Amino acid sequence: MIDAEDLAPGFNFANRALDRIAAEGLDPYPANFTLWYSYYSDILPDLRRMIDVLVRSGQPFSQVRCDELFQRFFGTDAEARAIREAGERTQNAIAKLQEVLRETEVVISRYGEALGGFRLTLEETVPLERLRAAVAAIASETDAIAEEHRRLQRRLAETGSALSQLRARLYSARRELMIDSLTGIANRKGFDSALADAVAAAQAERQPMSLLMIDLDHFKSFNDRHGHLVGDMVLRLTAKVLTDCVKGRDTVARFGGEEFAIILPGTSLGDAVIVADNVRQTLGRKQIINRNRTENFGTITLSVGATEYRVRESPHDLISRADSALYLAKRNGRNQVCSKGADAPASDPAG
Ligand code: GH3
Ligand code: MG
Ligand code: MG
Repeated sequence: MIDAEDLAPGFNFANRALDRIAAEGLDPYPANFTLWYSYYSDILPDLRRMIDVLVRSGQPFSQVRCDELFQRFFGTDAEARAIREAGERTQNAIAKLQEVLRETEVVISRYGEALGGFRLTLEETVPLERLRAAVAAIASETDAIAEEHRRLQRRLAETGSALSQLRARLYSARRELMIDSLTGIANRKGFDSALADAVAAAQAERQPMSLLMIDLDHFKSFNDRHGHLVGDMVLRLTAKVLTDCVKGRDTVARFGGEEFAIILPGTSLGDAVIVADNVRQTLGRKQIINRNRTENFGTITLSVGATEYRVRESPHDLISRADSALYLAKRNGRNQVCSKGADAPASDPAG
């Protein structure tokens, strides 16, 4: 038997985390493990403090509580934390900048004083020797201030480039958060953000806007027959076909699993159905072939639910109606496009 104390601290934390999960009567889910491992290893002091407070107040660690904590420290809030930390770093950089500016002020006033002294010296009738000494002093003070000026400029340049690096990092982090790593198109977060924009634009410009919900047909059995890696290849191929079939202002997103969505700003339902059918036919014609072109996995089809935005409705209602049109396409035999007008009820799948 392995004695945890003899091993690296990580094992010790892992064992304590598992003991605690058992003691609290929780399931050994990865999320629970992450939470308690982080607690014992104290990687997140805020998390440790919060759990200690809860322990002191005698609260039990139900799964709901653990989920809340996980969400707070590792879920979408982790993003908010990253942004807060970046904000703090920006503040530090700005504080340094202010310090540099204060130093500049000190140096300039010192120079002013030196010049003042020089003027006093000149106003007296002074022997040549003293005048020479005064000129030498002012020359050396001028050299010093020039050097100081160069030093401050270097520091300002450094601070400036640190700030622009930070801005670039924030920008790319934000972009990455919105992109699906498997297919390279927008993920659910990117979709939500694009749909909110499209809804706002449709309201403001009184333009039509349509939504397509797309789902691969019998994808589970495709995966079962050919394996998940081939399935992943199909997801990438589907993303490419969808992207190739739309225009620049449209948003193609992976809604989740093997479901995709396309937001079509400025597009009426009739035109959206034409786009949807083009997507359906284009994918249906593709032979799915492995990279070495040694295996052919046949073809795959998809079903589409199309609907048009109804003024003042929520994105949620729009998605529900597109979803119910998709459900209809599945029920009618798949590999087809079904649509629901803006006046159709969202919740009735037969509508
Ligand atoms: P239907 O025509 O009714 O949509 O049937 P389906 O089999 O496509 O639907 P179901 O919801 O039963 O199965 C979806 C499958 O999608 C299950 C899962 O294996 C697969 N899937 C989801 N995400 C991924 C992924 O990232 N990669 C792979 N390879 N498969 C995935
Ligand atoms: Mg599905
Ligand atoms: Mg499916």
